[in-house]
Amino acid sequence: MRRKSMTEPSRQTVGHDAPVFRFAPSPNGRLHLGHALSALLNADMAEKMGGRLLLRIEDIDLTRCTPQLEQAVFDDLDWLGISFEQPVRRQSEHFPLYRQALDRLKAKGLVYPAFLTRGEVKARVFAYEREGGTWPRDPDGAPLYPTEERAMSEADRAERLATVERYAWRLDIDRAQSMVERLLTWQETGDGPRGEIEADPAAWGDVVLWRSDAPASYHLAVTVDDAAQGVTHVVRGLDLYHATSVHRLLQVLLGLPAPIYHHHRLILGPDGRKLSKSLGDTALSALRAEGKTPSDIRAMVGI
Ligand code: GLU
Repeated sequence: MRRKSMTEPSRQTVGHDAPVFRFAPSPNGRLHLGHALSALLNADMAEKMGGRLLLRIEDIDLTRCTPQLEQAVFDDLDWLGISFEQPVRRQSEHFPLYRQALDRLKAKGLVYPAFLTRGEVKARVFAYEREGGTWPRDPDGAPLYPTEERAMSEADRAERLATVERYAWRLDIDRAQSMVERLLTWQETGDGPRGEIEADPAAWGDVVLWRSDAPASYHLAVTVDDAAQGVTHVVRGLDLYHATSVHRLLQVLLGLPAPIYHHHRLILGPDGRKLSKSLGDTALSALRAEGKTPSDIRAMVGI
């Protein structure tokens, strides 16, 4: 688990067609009880199904993810007693792969450069709602991005790309959806609605796939990586349930296979809200320092 041991061969010997699970934390804070539930569920399900267990470090955000926090992730998982196949994948080592996926979507005419700043969008939403309108919002409550830049002329685009420093590549969700012939669904086995779930990527509007100042978006990298790593079972929190709609759409557009999804219940804080990495007292390191054992953690997360 520690960086020193990353080149060691895997101890697991499972067949090529074994199920593949992955735990995919972002090292932008300390792991907390919610991560422990996710990691332990992945480990338990992989063991039960005779599957492989991978660890992926989602460190796209190079300003917030640090080597120290990454090491802390390894230490916490080691302490919990979970071992993953080696080597560990780091997203920061695969930017060219995400770029290729973006280029394929560009070649299909499905993405466009978007230049409005957060502040401009906010001001526009504010003005609209002050007049009594209701601006559409995504499943996380953020206002959908305006769509007029889809129709910008090539000349305007080229001029702005040459002069504007910060912009994003966004997916034209209507055009993207029109390329999907069959009903878009996913297989869900988790703690929310189960069975064959109908995806609704349009609920997110024109999602960001790439930013000029930060490579690949979460949606693009996670979709590309799950396929690159042959992941067959995605086990993660219910907070990412709706994001799966976008991942399914990208899978179809890029010709990638669909894993089975299992979105598990969330561990809530005393205020009834989802735990965040800034809530120090539920950090695994703090609980460990208090004298809690890995089996206490299992009991605390209810498994
Ligand atoms: N990196 C994401 C997080 O830490 C999880 C992504 C996923 O499991 O798809 O919340």
